[in-house]
Amino acid sequence: MSDQQLGSAHVADAGFVPWAARVMAASPGAVERALAIHTPTDDGLCANCSQEDAIWWPCTVVRIAELAQRAAVHPTPSPRQAS
Ligand SMILES: [Zn+2]
Repeated sequence: MSDQQLGSAHVADAGFVPWAARVMAASPGAVERALAIHTPTDDGLCANCSQEDAIWWPCTVVRIAELAQRAAVHPTPSPRQAS
């Protein structure tokens, strides 16, 4: 996986993740369900996403769920966010 190939994907991802987090935060139990099934394996892969392809944990779903969790606790996003 090269960073060059991911260049445009990162731009799209930057808008998609906060949007998806808002959708997930508005859906009761969605964050808990997502975090319950998207767990890291001993190899560092996502147990749910890696059934067909190897996807590293935290996967996109976990990142969305964690963002939704923070948004629910802190309605105003922190200006300091680890990327
Ligand atoms: Zn996953």
